[in-house]
Amino acid sequence: MAARRLDGTAWAARIREETRPRVERFTARAGRPPGLAVVLAGAHPASEIYVRNKIATVREHGCQGELFRLSETASLDDALALVSRLNGDDRVDAILVQSPLPPGMGPDAEQRVFDTIDPAKDVDGFHPINVGLLVQKRPALVACTPLGCAELLDREQIPLSGRHAVVIGRSDIVGKPMALLLLHRDATVTICHSRTRDLPEVCRSADVLVAAIGRAGFVTPAFVKPGATVIDVGINRLTDPADVARCFAPDSLRARQFAQKGSVLVGDVHPDVEAVAGAMTPVPGGVGPLTIAMVLRNTVTAAELRVGASA
Ligand code: NAD
Repeated sequence: MAARRLDGTAWAARIREETRPRVERFTARAGRPPGLAVVLAGAHPASEIYVRNKIATVREHGCQGELFRLSETASLDDALALVSRLNGDDRVDAILVQSPLPPGMGPDAEQRVFDTIDPAKDVDGFHPINVGLLVQKRPALVACTPLGCAELLDREQIPLSGRHAVVIGRSDIVGKPMALLLLHRDATVTICHSRTRDLPEVCRSADVLVAAIGRAGFVTPAFVKPGATVIDVGINRLTDPADVARCFAPDSLRARQFAQKGSVLVGDVHPDVEAVAGAMTPVPGGVGPLTIAMVLRNTVTAAELRVGASA
């Protein structure tokens, strides 16, 4: 039987609507809407789309959303100066610096920039203070993608207490905070990564499997316990017909879409997993829309916390 589809698009729409009264209350109280500043450095086609969606979403829900561009050749100092300026701007409640930063800024640029964002405005929850608060189970602003996954699991009432949750991927942005959110829901958590031995076997013991790897269709049915819940964080754009053929049957809708457009999105989970899993997020339409909804919600939360703190 095909896995139940965990509809991120529908849940995201509901979460976005839930923020509307909060935005209205904040705006009435503060005399201005919650404000999100998005920093985009360089030209990165996928980042352009993500940033456009984030700004459009906050604006559609009554917030201020503004884009600040830096050129591909901007220096790390330019980025740090912009973030410092936004830290000091009282109309800005939330700052989001889109990854990746241009390689010319240096290997530790992202960490340096995230460290510079005022933790109270850290809409992505990447600042060490916000990471520390999450570790201690007193979260303020939590990374949007894992927060969206946890929200989906909660709303779909997927049992987590005492269950085995396996997270593939140990990035600061997805894997680690995801593992903490599952731990705080009393799951027994295993974090897997590129050096994990017997990965399919470890994953097969999972009641809940989260894939955040960045490799198209990597998680095959051999990784999945029948009936398990599978959350697919990966977003991979396929342009090579051989890769598409590995993931989609020649007569499938997605293969036809590829033939028309020349590219197709696939997650880190192979579509064949649908036949084994009990519930599964689609790509697109799963974790992606929830991430955007969490950017909106975190913007409102940051605004409320700041104004509450100064009242
Ligand atoms: P990352 O490159 O920082 O981390 C990837 C992780 O995968 C690493 O920890 C690595 O150890 C692990 N890994 C790599 N190869 C592996 C292997 N062969 N076996 C086991 N583990 C392996 O990536 P990230 O930023 O965490 O993102 C992961 C994926 O999630 C990407 O596809 C990214 O595009 C996607 N993503 C989606 C959203 C969204 O909104 N849906 C948001 C952020 C990231």
